Amino acid sequence: MARESSLRFGAQTDEITSLLRIINLVRTEEAVTRPEIGRLTGLGRGVVTQRVDAAIEAGFLEDGEFGQSSGGRAPRTLRFRSDQAHIIVCALGALHIRVGIASLDGTVTSQTHREWDIATGPAATLDTALGMIDELLADEPERPVWAVSVGVPGPVDFESGSPVAPPIMPGWNGFDIRRRFEQRFDAPVWVDNDVNLLTLAERQRRRDEPIDLIYCKVGSGIGAGLLSRGRLHRGANGAAGDIGHVRVRDSAEPCRCGKVGCLEAEAGGWALVRRANRAIEDGATGMLATQFAGGLAITPEAIAVAAMDGDALAISLVHHSAGLVGESIAALVNMFNPNVIVIGGSVSAAGEIFLAEVRRRVYELSLPLATRDLSLVRSVGDEKEPLRGGAQLAIEQLFDATFPRWFAEGRPTIVGVRAAA
Ligand SMILES: [Zn+2]
Repeated sequence: MARESSLRFGAQTDEITSLLRIINLVRTEEAVTRPEIGRLTGLGRGVVTQRVDAAIEAGFLEDGEFGQSSGGRAPRTLRFRSDQAHIIVCALGALHIRVGIASLDGTVTSQTHREWDIATGPAATLDTALGMIDELLADEPERPVWAVSVGVPGPVDFESGSPVAPPIMPGWNGFDIRRRFEQRFDAPVWVDNDVNLLTLAERQRRRDEPIDLIYCKVGSGIGAGLLSRGRLHRGANGAAGDIGHVRVRDSAEPCRCGKVGCLEAEAGGWALVRRANRAIEDGATGMLATQFAGGLAITPEAIAVAAMDGDALAISLVHHSAGLVGESIAALVNMFNPNVIVIGGSVSAAGEIFLAEVRRRVYELSLPLATRDLSLVRSVGDEKEPLRGGAQLAIEQLFDATFPRWFAEGRPTIVGVRAAA
C-alpha cells in the first residue's frame, strides 16, 4: 500500500522553500494563478511554472477553471487538493470522547462520540478512542493519515505532548499521548489543551480579521485560550490561559487542584453544583430543589436551563459565577487588550443571564482604551467545534513545521492507513 512521492529535492532548501510557499499561497487562496504567484513571490515565470508543475505532480495542486482575463489569454486557476490525506482529531472531554476525520482544508468529513469518564485512565481511554477512529476510517476513502491532533481537558506540555498534573485526569500525569498515536499512525501527532482547540476554531471563523482573542470556557472547569495577532499563546510550558486557578477575593472554597479559593472553586460548573446542593440541604426551594427531590442529579447544564426558566436559586448561582468570571477576565483585558472575547461552556449556556453580568463586570473594571473596540460574545456552542479546532491545529503545524522537514527528506511518503498496525 506504500507509494513514494515523486518529490525529491535533497538539500536544496531554496527550492523547498519556494515550493512550500507556492502550495501555501494556493491553499490559503492568496494567489490562485501562476501570474499571481509570480507577483507575490517575485519568482520568474520559468521558475513558477517549474515549481507549480512539481506541486501538481506531487499531488498538492491541480489545475482549475480559467480565471479573469486582464487583456490577453485568461490564466488558468490552481486549486489545492485537500482530499489527498486525512487529518485525525481526537477531542477528549471530562465525560466524553469525540473523534473525527478531516480533510486538509479543515472540513470535518465524519465524526462520532460516546460517553466516557476520562478518570478511567489513559490506556483504556486511548484504546477506546483508537477503536472509534478505526470505525470512522473504515467508511472513509482510503487515504494516508498526515496528521493527528488530540485535545485533553487539562494542562498539556505542548512540546512533549503529555498532560501535566491535570486535576480531573487521574493517571494521566506525564502520559505520552503522542507516542500512543504515533505507534498507530505513521504521522506527526500534536496534543493540546481542549480550550486551545476551541480557540483555534474561533480563529478559523474570523480568519479575515487580525485578531487578539480570549476564549473563556466556563464548563465544569474554567479555562481560557489566548490568540495574539492570530497566533495561539501557549506560554513557556503550555500553561498560559489557565485562569480557572487564579485566586479570587475572600474565598475559602477548596479546589480540585488542591489549593483554596480558585476561580473554578467558586464559579466553575462543579462548584455551582456544590453550592446548589448546599442550598437545597439548607432548605432552598424551586426547580432545582424539585429535580433533586425527584432523584435527578444537579448538573451545570441543569443549572443553566433552570436559570433560563427563571428559577431563583439557579439565577443567583449563574450570577455569582458570571460576576467572578467577569472580574477575572477584566484583569486579562487590562493586561492583554483583546478585541474579541468569546464565552463558551455549559454554564454560559444560560445565555444573556450569564453574558450580561460578565460584560457588566468587564466594562466596569477595565480601562476605557482596553474596551474601546472590544466585543464580548457567546461561542456558537456547536459540539463539533473541538474537532474543527483540532483540524486547524494539525493544519497549522503540518504546513508550518512538518512540511519543510518532510520535503527536505523527500517525503510525504504515502503510507496506507490500514497498513499500519
Ligand atoms: Zn484550583
